[in-house]
Amino acid sequence: MNNLFTANLDYRSLVRKYGSPLLLLDRATIRHQYRSLKSALPNVTLHYALKPLPHPEVVSVLMEEGASFDLATKGEVDLVRSAGVDPITCIHTHPIKKDDEISYALDYGCSVFVVDNEEEVKKFIPYRRDARLLIRVSFPNPETPVDLSKKFGVLPENCLGLLRYVKRLGLEIAGLSFHVGSQVPNARRHCEAISQCAEIIRAAAEEGIEIGVLDIGGGFPVDYAGARETDIGAFCAPIREALAQLPEGIRIIAEPGRFISAPAMLNICTVVGKAERFGKPWYYLDDGVYCSYSGQIFDHVTYPKSAPYAMGPVRESVLAGPTCDSIDIIAENIMLPELHVDDIIVGKMMGAYTISTATEFNFIRKTGILLIDTDRDHPDELERQFRLEPATREHCHQRALRLVS
Ligand SMILES: *Cc1c(COP(=O)(O)O)cnc(C)c1O
Repeated sequence: MNNLFTANLDYRSLVRKYGSPLLLLDRATIRHQYRSLKSALPNVTLHYALKPLPHPEVVSVLMEEGASFDLATKGEVDLVRSAGVDPITCIHTHPIKKDDEISYALDYGCSVFVVDNEEEVKKFIPYRRDARLLIRVSFPNPETPVDLSKKFGVLPENCLGLLRYVKRLGLEIAGLSFHVGSQVPNARRHCEAISQCAEIIRAAAEEGIEIGVLDIGGGFPVDYAGARETDIGAFCAPIREALAQLPEGIRIIAEPGRFISAPAMLNICTVVGKAERFGKPWYYLDDGVYCSYSGQIFDHVTYPKSAPYAMGPVRESVLAGPTCDSIDIIAENIMLPELHVDDIIVGKMMGAYTISTATEFNFIRKTGILLIDTDRDHPDELERQFRLEPATREHCHQRALRLVS
């Protein structure tokens, strides 16, 4: 079965047909990543975290796979609701919310919420009959560039106190959750967090506080350096062992985002101009850090980039984006053969935290997303699967729409 790790795509003909720049979103890769993680964590319910790629097609593929969902805002509620997702399969994991975020999610039918302090717990008093609470515990992780435990979570030593407070107010406790940071290099922090949560669960049980769910968050990594498949089975082996040590009867859930979406999208853009500066060739592209490559700023990631059709001796080169800002450079010393105007640059592993954080700085429209399914073997069949969609609901990619009609 094909996916973006294995498929051979004709980027030039795609650009001739659909224009440049372009993002390709592959359904087959979403399916493949979900199934790989599912078999690496067979007894864990996977709630796809919408944040890295909140796209209706990703939601619909994952619904077909029987996935659950993790949402954090009213906009994300709208997305799953319009896709027809059963709210029973959703959890709301933003630790800090306005009252109308809570009531909006409850109206939809999502009733599990994350809290990490007393101020937040109090907001649920009016909803005590409908809402159930997951307590987010903080496990700081210096090994990841995206350490979410700085911003959110109750310290493990204060967790029991918070559980008592929730119980005293008569609110229902669903369980514990944590997020050890995104794109973690190994599962060590997950395992430490699981065993510390096990201690909290035992201590709580002694006081008659029952913990039914442990949510082990996200953080499952992809390979940006090599653009290869992660051996997720091996990555998760210590997690499986740690989970086996938990008391009986605890339901385990997780909130993977990046792992499912990152490999499923790639970017095709084009050289629009070139110059020689400070002894290096500079190539100016029609996509950059204010748009599809925004993750290089916000997510601290460098995507694997190549010029698949260029040939000849390589030189240290610069790839710059289309805006007038000097920060808009996507590679400063990439080894490339000489490129010409209209040559194609391909960026891989660009499905997570890329177009979701893009801007329209300089009035440059967000790059359109072309939906594909590399699982179709026959090229004609693949062709018929192509459908170009605007990157967001609000901002229509004019050129893209012309191509579709
Ligand atoms: C961002 C986020 C996720 C997804 O994390 P990944 O590292 O992309 O898997 C999951 N849960 C919460 C609460 C998040 O904020």
